[in-house]
This record gives sequence, structure tokens and C-alpha cells, in this order.
Amino acid sequence: RAKRDGKSGHHFFEPSLDEQARLRRQMELDLRRAIGEGEFELYFQPLYSLTEEKLKGFEALIRWQHPERGQISPLEFIPLAEETGLIHPIGEWVLREACHQASMWETDLSVAVNVSPKQFASPGLAGKILSAIASSGISADRLELEITESVFIANVEKTMATLYSLRGLGVKIALDDFGTGYSSLSYLRSFPFDKVKIDRSFVTDLANGGNGHAIIRAITTLADALGMETLAEGVEEIEQLDILRREGCRNVQGFLLSKPMSAQDVRTWVLGDEQGKLLTRVA
Ligand code: C2E
Ligand code: MG
Ligand code: MG
Ligand code: MG
Repeated sequence: RAKRDGKSGHHFFEPSLDEQARLRRQMELDLRRAIGEGEFELYFQPLYSLTEEKLKGFEALIRWQHPERGQISPLEFIPLAEETGLIHPIGEWVLREACHQASMWETDLSVAVNVSPKQFASPGLAGKILSAIASSGISADRLELEITESVFIANVEKTMATLYSLRGLGVKIALDDFGTGYSSLSYLRSFPFDKVKIDRSFVTDLANGGNGHAIIRAITTLADALGMETLAEGVEEIEQLDILRREGCRNVQGFLLSKPMSAQDVRTWVLGDEQGKLLTRVA
């Protein structure tokens, strides 16, 4: 993309540092407004069990409907929300809204919520979780918190203490994007996660031959031995699904089954006939 000019060292097509700082400040102001004005929405993506051959729940994924820029990806604004501390009000809204939506499903389907590292480290988190569960009326074991390996970087012992206190609330805990961190395996022995979510990059690899199968098999074997569920993220092709099934992966999520959908679509889906269509897609 950006080309370096041999003589001056300037980048073309790339905003200057001043411009980048200005865009960042503008985005921060926009984020503050978005919280006040309620410009966020949760989308939900199905989590499907290969072993039980049924829908188990949904992952809640935040969307920002910006009045001028349209929909902005969480990959673009969650990092800024983390840096500025705005992740706290945003994360609290996500928890409450996810539990609220799950309370309308009239089933025991689970709802998974992503918890970012700064949110995880905040002493108020357990209280906010309890409050979201209580005001929605859902049972605690329907809520699953997704954390990434990066929460361990700060302080392993403190992280483990937090994980055990959250577990004590009765919620489930999943390790998200597994395999992308610096020392993934060591974290599995630190805490008995309920679920390990195998990062999409390993699933993508399956199509390209190579040693992808062996890696999936190693992770599922280990997780089985440790009593943890496995879920493969980013399943887009039936060939990937076949391999995952063969290598013992228990759950899948990805565009092959369904893209993330609006809360309204979930209600139609869960209550309507769409589940049948899901099943035929993965049969
Ligand atoms: P994640 O938690 O690993 O979520 C999975 C991401 O993969 C989602 O992107 C989802 O749309 C995408 N995905 C699912 N299936 C497929 C597939 O088959 N192919 C491809 N190419 N992608 C697939 P999304 O919604 O853009 O979210 C990106 C990341 O932003 C999430 O990764 C998560 O880390 C973060 N995020 C999303 N919502 C929240 C939130 O409410 N709070 C926090 N703290 N982070 C969030
Ligand atoms: Mg996630
Ligand atoms: Mg993930
Ligand atoms: Mg991911």
C-alpha cells in the first residue's frame, strides 16, 4: 500500500501523524457520542454442536452504526475504546443487552460475550455481570464470557483469581482465539476453561493442506483430556467442517452456518423454522 519515497522518506497515501492524531481524537469524540445516543447494536452468530447436532447458543458481536460513516467494525473501534477507557460503559451495555436478548429466546440457548482485557482487569466486572444476569432474569450458566490469552500477560496469578471469582458466579468461561498468543498451551494448565475457541487462522489453514489437521487433532485431544469443550471459529467451507468433525472438534461457528444476524432475525430464527435450514447446511 503506502510507498516510500526514496529521497524524502515520506509516505504517500498514508495520513501524516498530525492527521492520524486528529482522526483518533475525532473517533474518540464520536465514540462518546455513540454511547450517549445508543448507536450500538448487537449481532448474534450461531454456535453449533457437531456432537449433539444442534444449535447451542449465539456469540454476541457489537456493531456501531455511525450516522455518517455507516457500520464500523469492532476491530476498528474496540482498540480505541480500550485505550480511552470507554470500553467500560460499552462493555457494560454489551453485557446487559446480550443477557436481555437471551431472556427473550424462551429456550436455554447460551449467549457468549467478548470481554476485553481492560474490562477483565476492572474490579467492577463481577458486579456488572451479576447485575446484568439479575435484571434479565436469565440463569447464570447461560452466559459465557470469552476472554483472550492476552489477559494473562498482565499478571497470571491475579488473572487466575479473577477467573475463579467469575466462575463462582456460575457463568461459563471460554478462551477465545486460541493458538494466536505467545504461549497458548501454558494457559490451559492455569485454569480449567469451559471451552477453547480455536482461532480462525487454523481453520483457514485446513484448506491449504499442510499440517493443519495435526494441529486441530492435537488441540482437540488435549482439550478432551482436560475436560474442555472445543469450538472452531471461521468455518466457511464444507471441506473444513468435514475435517473438523473427523479430527474430533465438538463445536463450530462460521459463515458456512450463518453470518452474525440482528436480534430480530435471531428471534425469528430461534422461534421459526430456520434451525432446520441450519441443520441441512451442515449435514
Ligand atoms: P471474535 O470474538 O474472535 O469474533 C469472531 C469474529 O469472526 C467476528 O468478527 C465474526 O463476524 C467473524 N467471523 C465469524 N465467522 C466467520 C467466518 O466464517 N469467516 C470470517 N472471515 N469471519 C468470521 P467481528 O464481529 O468483526 O468481531 C471482531 C472482533 O471484535 C471479535 O473477534 C472480538 O474480538 C471483537 N468484538 C466484537 N464484539 C465485541 C464486544 O462486544 N466486546 C469486545 N470487547 N470485543 C468485541
Ligand atoms: Mg469472541
Ligand atoms: Mg474469536
Ligand atoms: Mg477471532
